[in-house]
Amino acid sequence: MSSPNPSNTEPSAAEQVPTWQPPRRKNAQGGTSPQVEKALVDVRQKIYPRSVTGVFARWRVWLVLATQIIFYGLPWIEWHGRQAVLFDLAARKFYLFGMILWPQDVIYLTVLLLLSAFSLFLFTAMAGRLFCGYACPQTVYTEIFMWVERKIEGDRLARIRLDEQPWTIRKIRIKALKHLAWVVIAFWTGYTFIGYFAPIRELGGDLLSLSLGPWQWFWLLFYAFATWGNAGFMREAVCKYMCPYARFQSVMVDNDTFVVTYDHVRGDPRGGRSRKIDHKSAGMGDCVDCSLCVQVCPTGIDIRDGLQYMCIGCGACVDACNQVMDKMSYEPGLIRYTSGRAITERLTQAQVRKRMLRPRVLSYILILTVIFGAFVYSLGTRVPMRMDIMRDRGALGREVPGGFYENVYQLQLINTSETGMNVSLSAAGLSGLTLQTAEGRSDQVYVEPAANRLVAVVARLPIQEAKPGLYNIAIEAVSHHENGRETVVTESTSFYVPQ
Ligand code: SF4
Ligand code: SF4
Repeated sequence: MSSPNPSNTEPSAAEQVPTWQPPRRKNAQGGTSPQVEKALVDVRQKIYPRSVTGVFARWRVWLVLATQIIFYGLPWIEWHGRQAVLFDLAARKFYLFGMILWPQDVIYLTVLLLLSAFSLFLFTAMAGRLFCGYACPQTVYTEIFMWVERKIEGDRLARIRLDEQPWTIRKIRIKALKHLAWVVIAFWTGYTFIGYFAPIRELGGDLLSLSLGPWQWFWLLFYAFATWGNAGFMREAVCKYMCPYARFQSVMVDNDTFVVTYDHVRGDPRGGRSRKIDHKSAGMGDCVDCSLCVQVCPTGIDIRDGLQYMCIGCGACVDACNQVMDKMSYEPGLIRYTSGRAITERLTQAQVRKRMLRPRVLSYILILTVIFGAFVYSLGTRVPMRMDIMRDRGALGREVPGGFYENVYQLQLINTSETGMNVSLSAAGLSGLTLQTAEGRSDQVYVEPAANRLVAVVARLPIQEAKPGLYNIAIEAVSHHENGRETVVTESTSFYVPQ
């Protein structure tokens, strides 16, 4: 999409080196102000981040592409004739490719949450808010929306000028086009989101015929609205004022954490200068005070003031400053990913990396390895059949004609595989004990693929085999799957012999 704004003739970042410009924000009255944002305050001022190119900008683009290809593409993948990833809340089944999880598998969800939490601790201890800068949905959608905005309205100065202009046909046309593009993306995002909870292909038909259910409409519109509002308007305010992670990260970051840092030892004293002078002999540091690092910052902060909780670690200021250093023929890395200790103790990058593996980080790695290993082992050895036993409370135990004591149970047999299974039932624990279904008097039960079946079964014991009392017994189910697999599940219960 080409920019319809002919006034977007802003020079490249590296061409603007020597002039200091305070960060420009637009206030509620429409004027511009040079004031630096007061912490956690009041009226939100719009930030106009300038576009930047470089290594970290490319990483961000790749990660936006990777995360969005996964998010938008996953619900369209088919697996054995059904949607590969589907969280079917109505049927209380989660499909993950060949795996089907039931409510009884909630332990796996708990373990996944634990893994996510420890991964977050680990990455924060090692590299601060790296997740925020590259993979957080808020950052990713803000990047996408800002890309659309740049394509339609132009880069920073063009956008500032456009917002300052009175409303004209041209301005309305540009703004309408931008919002139309945003709404399309937001709507598609909402549609994809609900496509994880209901078959996405069927949803498409329902959507076209406007026959979605009320909850589907609600979540589609809510998610679309949240995307449009958060990525189009709230942007950095979410990271700065709403995200709890920003608040507690400070307790996980220490002097050895790899974060975006301004090298004040090398950069100060700052100031504009000619490229021709030897600035070191003139008593100046490497920072030319051009403010480009502030102009590109999506949260509008000045990293030269030190590490701040508003910094999302996106590296845009690193790219911008490296361009300036290149232009000035200085060494790159005045702003770089490094640790606070590296700056004060002048450590090399190799020493910094070595210090990253400190006891806290090693403990997180160890815990993660153990949990992950147990998770994989448990999934790998997961039995494709489950059995739950419920005693029939209405008839605890009784004597029946023919000389038997009889107990009735309800068995819930769950087939977690994608093939049907025949189950052979038997009981053990008392001599002469037998087990059959209440209906049909058989010890064989068939359970459909990815289904559960409630079966009433009767255990019988010859009268002469036991005195009155409560006995521990076991019910065994042997499943024979259509693919040849066989599994055995045994559950304990009790058999009551009445007086
Ligand atoms: S740190 Fe780099 S980008 Fe920022 S003002 Fe100094 S020279 Fe410019
Ligand atoms: S200070 Fe640098 S790394 Fe931090 S949010 Fe701003 S541009 Fe990104």
